[in-house]
Amino acid sequence: MGTTGATSPSNFIRNIIEQDLKAGKNEGRVHTRFPPEPNGYLHIGHAKSICLNFGFAAEYGGLCNLRFDDTNPSKEEIEYVESIKKDIRWLGFDWGDREYYASDYFGQLYEYAIQLIKDGKAYVDDLSPEQIREYRGTLTEPGRESPYRNRSVEENLDLFERMQVGEFPNGSHVLRAKIDMASGNLNMRDPVIYRVLHAKHHRTDDKWCIYPMYDWAHGQSDSIEGITHSVCTLEFEDHRPLYDWFLDALGIHHPQQIEFSRLDLSYTVMSKRKLLELVQEGYVTGWDDPRMPTISGLRRRGYTPESIRNFSERVGVAKKKGSMVDIAMLEHCLREDLNRRAPRVMAVLHPLKVVIDNYPEDRVEQLEAVNNPEDPGMGSRKVHFSRVLYIEGEDFSEEPSKKFFRLAPGREVRLKHAYFIKCKRVVKNEQSGEVVELHCTFDPASKGGASPDGRKVKGTLHWVSAAHALEAEVRLYDHLFTKENPAEAEEGKDFKDYLNPNSLETLTSCRMEPSLKGAAPGSRYQFLRHGYFCVDSVDSTDDKLIFNRTVSLRDTWAKIEKKRSS
Ligand code: ATP
Ligand code: MG
Repeated sequence: MGTTGATSPSNFIRNIIEQDLKAGKNEGRVHTRFPPEPNGYLHIGHAKSICLNFGFAAEYGGLCNLRFDDTNPSKEEIEYVESIKKDIRWLGFDWGDREYYASDYFGQLYEYAIQLIKDGKAYVDDLSPEQIREYRGTLTEPGRESPYRNRSVEENLDLFERMQVGEFPNGSHVLRAKIDMASGNLNMRDPVIYRVLHAKHHRTDDKWCIYPMYDWAHGQSDSIEGITHSVCTLEFEDHRPLYDWFLDALGIHHPQQIEFSRLDLSYTVMSKRKLLELVQEGYVTGWDDPRMPTISGLRRRGYTPESIRNFSERVGVAKKKGSMVDIAMLEHCLREDLNRRAPRVMAVLHPLKVVIDNYPEDRVEQLEAVNNPEDPGMGSRKVHFSRVLYIEGEDFSEEPSKKFFRLAPGREVRLKHAYFIKCKRVVKNEQSGEVVELHCTFDPASKGGASPDGRKVKGTLHWVSAAHALEAEVRLYDHLFTKENPAEAEEGKDFKDYLNPNSLETLTSCRMEPSLKGAAPGSRYQFLRHGYFCVDSVDSTDDKLIFNRTVSLRDTWAKIEKKRSS
């Protein structure tokens, strides 16, 4: 990624880092981390956090760690760890040999807890989880102190050790920090830092019968790793005083926590719990369903890492809650990137047969077609032209409206890279009345797409030669939800009530130009006049190509921007 400091737009996190560097804080180091909980696949919100953390490290010649926050043994799985690593690499970032796990620090965290107990700053509580909640008070009422709050250091040390060796059942005892039950910040009301939990952990197996709470593990893990700037989302703002209290009580390295607002995208949901529900209940085919906002879903859909990184940079960082980003902006970033890199090909999604009556039956021509008008370096290819072709069904109208400039009875249009053709006769299915075949003539002098007599045509159509075309499946995707913010459900409904029933349309007998034969899974193309498509990396085979529509050509974001600036 190199040093982009001079050109990157500033944001408030950058400003803090630069001030710290100027002041010589942390010996001039910048060390960040990305700390996922391995309880689901990463989504586009995580991508933003990854881009920020790895981006700052690269920008200031620092380091970024990958740390799995695996403090909760019951919900975590190896599958998630592997998928997270794959996704971060795919986005273009590298954590070197710094792959860490909060569970690696369980021993150190235990020692820290002993230190707090010895300093009279933590105690073992026998209240039940319900009682603890009840004693905690509310935003308007102070909490009450537990009757066990003033145990002696010796008794606390003894009980805490017995919690760890497994003497007590789940829920019977917790270790709490002794802070202030009357604090205006509920997080400071003697928070639980350890609980008894007889559970196997994916890395430590059954070594531990107690597990640290996230709040106890998070700040100390950052400290242990020498993190300088702990960038996290806004919901941790109220936890910062607690993290500060822990670090000060322990007297250890103190990273600076900086909060920014979560990325929220329209027409999708971003919570792992909700995404898991969609997967488990079969609303989508998996975490990598191309309609999912997961990184694996976006990848399978045809997104490029560059477009996601660019999007992250463009949305910037804010301190304010509830800013929903229009999904059209993400799509805009994708189009911009694909426009530069995707070769153009011709694919007919709803084939309508066209016979060129004056074209010799046994003749086949190879016509020159440029691969990308945006990039001459991408060269050209040959496309077959012959007497029987397919055009797009919607490119013909028997009774065209005023604004319809494509093919109609008696009308002449251009076939891209080929000839002018004129429609002479329409063949219909006798029963249904449906148009099944067109008979046209071509003008041999218009080869390449212009006629020597200068006559103009208004429409240019894409097409394929019937005898040479490949048959393929195309999956057209739309937003997964019909509501801009599905998380804001009306009373009696939940987010799943807003699932878009038309988010997937499968077309099974599309015809493609033969250059697509053998296209590798994941390869991306622009289907002329349709949009960007990629070969599905899961279901497509050599015998049966399957394409995903990545994004259509219609750019609603560009329109929104244009309106704004005019
Ligand atoms: P979710 O609510 O989707 O389950 P999470 O915050 O619990 O997400 P973590 O695995 O803890 O998921 O997240 C790892 C990192 O990614 C955290 O630092 C978190 O702040 C950040 N992150 C998660 N969601 C978003 C988002 N929507 N926008 C920006 N950053 C996010
Ligand atoms: Mg989390």
